[in-house]
Amino acid sequence: MSREITRIGVVGLGTMGAGIAEVFARSGYDVVGLDANETAVERGRGHVEGSTDRAVKRGKLTEEERAEVIGRIRFTTDYADLADRQLVVEAVPESLELKREIFEQLDKVVEPDAILASNTSSLSVTEIAVATARPSQVIGMHFFNPAPVQAFVEIVSTVVTSPDVVEDVQEVAQSLGKLPVVVGDKAGFIANALLFGYLNHAASMFETKYATREDIDAAMKLGCGLPMGPLALLDLIGLDTAYEILDTMYKQGRDRLHAPSPVLKQMVTAGLRGRKTGRGFYTYEAPNSPVVVPDALTPSAAQDGSVATRPVEKVGVVGSGTMAVGIIEVFAKAGFDVLYVARGDDKVGKVRTGLERSLDKGVARGKLSEADRDAALARVSGTTKLDDMADRDLVVEAVVEDLAVKTVLFESLDEICTKGAILATTTSSLPVVDLAAATKFPQDVVGLHFFNPAPVMKLVEVVSTVATADDVVATAVDVCRRLGKHPVTCGDRAGFIVNALLFPYLNDAVKMLEANYASADDIDTAMKTGCGYPMGPFELLDVVGLDVSLAIQRTLYLEFREPGFAPAPRLEHLVTAGYVGRKSGRGFRSYDG
Ligand code: NAD
Repeated sequence: MSREITRIGVVGLGTMGAGIAEVFARSGYDVVGLDANETAVERGRGHVEGSTDRAVKRGKLTEEERAEVIGRIRFTTDYADLADRQLVVEAVPESLELKREIFEQLDKVVEPDAILASNTSSLSVTEIAVATARPSQVIGMHFFNPAPVQAFVEIVSTVVTSPDVVEDVQEVAQSLGKLPVVVGDKAGFIANALLFGYLNHAASMFETKYATREDIDAAMKLGCGLPMGPLALLDLIGLDTAYEILDTMYKQGRDRLHAPSPVLKQMVTAGLRGRKTGRGFYTYEAPNSPVVVPDALTPSAAQDGSVATRPVEKVGVVGSGTMAVGIIEVFAKAGFDVLYVARGDDKVGKVRTGLERSLDKGVARGKLSEADRDAALARVSGTTKLDDMADRDLVVEAVVEDLAVKTVLFESLDEICTKGAILATTTSSLPVVDLAAATKFPQDVVGLHFFNPAPVMKLVEVVSTVATADDVVATAVDVCRRLGKHPVTCGDRAGFIVNALLFPYLNDAVKMLEANYASADDIDTAMKTGCGYPMGPFELLDVVGLDVSLAIQRTLYLEFREPGFAPAPRLEHLVTAGYVGRKSGRGFRSYDG
């Protein structure tokens, strides 16, 4: 039978500790919060007051409840005040030396049967445990940031943690309304092991100026439905903490993708530690404020409207698939004159029918008036002759993802279109520059990577090659804005922004499953309830298709020659076996029909 735990201690009242103290107090626990000195204690109290104040404003807490919550936390700098605590959660900075010292001290003050937990994100809980005389009562209790919001808790059980202790801590976590998952003592556990490679890669994209911070963040929010972009998330986590986590993960796994991006170290050294110091990748109104204020990096040069754009009214779309139909709809609804080319009259008719059906759906859902539907349809006409593209200002190609087919198409368009017309490809995986090289005016070729379904997804990656003219990029950005889309600009590299950041993470999840560190269900839960992802990696892989994911991962691996990008063998085997996800009825999970 497990014992009743009511008296909690929290050591370190920074980003995490203050949130953890609040979570316990909100669930009725009696809490003692300790920090190193009075200033830090006051800052910790301020965190709790600010956070509960926001909860009141959002209607999640009444004023009375707020006062009770704050009343349940006693703040101190004296370890003796922790003497009667049954469970102490440590949340001091991510340093093994410091944590070991603190555990040694805690071990001396608390009762022999008390449980000591660390909120470490990456350090070895075993190494912390052996600094005490009670290693079997030491455990990891890894909360997610912000602790009052994220429901996930990783409970880290070492080879010596007693099963009773695991059970007790699991019960405590559940009583907080959290979803605990028990994991082994490996750097990064589930969520950070999958998250930090991605965050680090995003930091390198920023460092190498592959894309602006705003564009990297917008791409992941709008392209993947993530609650925050990676750079804003790094600011929230704290760049010093992120650096330490990556460093520990790198030292344990020697995976180059975890070697902290140099920019992180530079920023930490310069005191730009993220939101907590008021400046990180972004500048904030004040330390700990979530409000971003403009700085020298705002707005991005490519998008500030300083480059004159070319006039675009007449648009051509080549193709007859889902993407082409979606793109035709988007342009027509935004008032452009659209002419599409399809191979054969039947396909021209099919595109028209597809377009009508989609617009009718919009009307049925109340998103479009009948008059707007009719006006959009009146702006669209179809042809079977590519030559009819001659008068178009912009031609967007959305034919099959095949380099040979697209190259021939660009050669033809180059002959047909007038000088100054912009040629755009919607490719998601081929080099745009190959298509540019097939024309006599490579400066007029640009990538416009729409996301499926095009009428719904707001993101468009505007891809410029080494040859693309500045005014062509500016025009593409302007056209996307006229479409009501959110354009982000990036260079011509495999995966652009979104796929380059997303697929290696999915591949890492498969590798984690392969290593039997956690189940697909636990991994999906970790990412959804720990990081607020709309879907877990295995759910997403099954929806996207394992074959599509494998193809993208192979492209990334071939382009970057990065060993960490090598496709996971399990992914290859499932594709070989024909288990490619929902569309085949089986992928990482099985589906009815
Ligand atoms: P932080 O820098 O925001 O806060 C650390 C706190 O510890 C500060 O208030 C500091 O004054 C206090 N402290 C320092 N030395 C101390 C001492 N000797 N005794 C008592 N208190 C001391 O750091 P953080 O981001 O809250 O990280 C704390 C822990 O939580 C780390 O192990 C980190 O890996 C982990 N963690 C962080 C996040 C995150 O997103 N930031 C998420 C989960 C877990």
